Amino acid sequence: MGAEIDLAGFTFVVILNLGITLAELIGGIIAGSLALISDSAHNFSDALSLILSYVAERVSKKPKNYRKTFGYKRANIIAAFFNSSTLLVIGGLLTMEAIRRFFEPVSINTNVVLVVGTIGLIANLLSMIMLKKWSKESLNIRSAYLHMLMDSLSSIAVLIGAVVIKIYGLKFLDSVVTILIALYVVKEAIEIFNASLSILMESTPAGFDVENISSQLLRNPVIKDIHHIHIWALDERNILFEGHVNLKEDVKLSDAMRIYNEIKSELEKFGINHVTIQFEFNGCKDTGLISCS
Ligand SMILES: [Zn+2]
Ligand SMILES: [Zn+2]
Repeated sequence: MGAEIDLAGFTFVVILNLGITLAELIGGIIAGSLALISDSAHNFSDALSLILSYVAERVSKKPKNYRKTFGYKRANIIAAFFNSSTLLVIGGLLTMEAIRRFFEPVSINTNVVLVVGTIGLIANLLSMIMLKKWSKESLNIRSAYLHMLMDSLSSIAVLIGAVVIKIYGLKFLDSVVTILIALYVVKEAIEIFNASLSILMESTPAGFDVENISSQLLRNPVIKDIHHIHIWALDERNILFEGHVNLKEDVKLSDAMRIYNEIKSELEKFGINHVTIQFEFNGCKDTGLISCS
């Protein structure tokens, strides 16, 4: 969540999600409906992720200090990693329970499901309308809005399932709806899990090609080779580059500064906004792009 969201509106959306969570959990247990419980678990993780993102967004804006020279930017990423891991576990548990119920069907009180499911749908639609207002302000909020849109669809699936069970007595539909919701949860969780894990592993960010970038830099005639390259992301916005640049000539420091600025502006074209270079003259032996052993 961006700081653009005012605290009152944000609190409203969180309370709404916690409200649905509780209503659907109690309703799901009373009615014996796993689909409702899975929707509840989903809404709980949504509320948790809203709170975490809000806190993380605040923490990540704290200034750098001598103990945290990178600042607190990764707080966001850690929150996203934690959230998505939780979602994966919830999705897995629900799927297992749904499969078990295929073989041992449980009787379901569809009236309770219909009432609670409708409340859930209304609450989801309300959160959606709140987020829609803010969604033009940031990508973060826009994705939260789209998320609530999908959540409303899953509430509708719970309701349709309940109606069909009520009319035709097809109890297994509760498991089918559960698995569909679980798959949706897992799908979105995997995307966030991969993106946050990739940042935590200092992977080369998606869309950045070490070989291509180094060959662009090598077009500079004074550079002999470039090695020991790292390109990594501090968070979604800050991309860093470091590398050893072996020069053809033993230049003056003022020339090295000029070359540095040329490299820096070339890298900025790729979207890299923090550059650290170690200049060398006959420096490392046996150099590779990512090593200097
Ligand atoms: Zn959701
Ligand atoms: Zn080197």
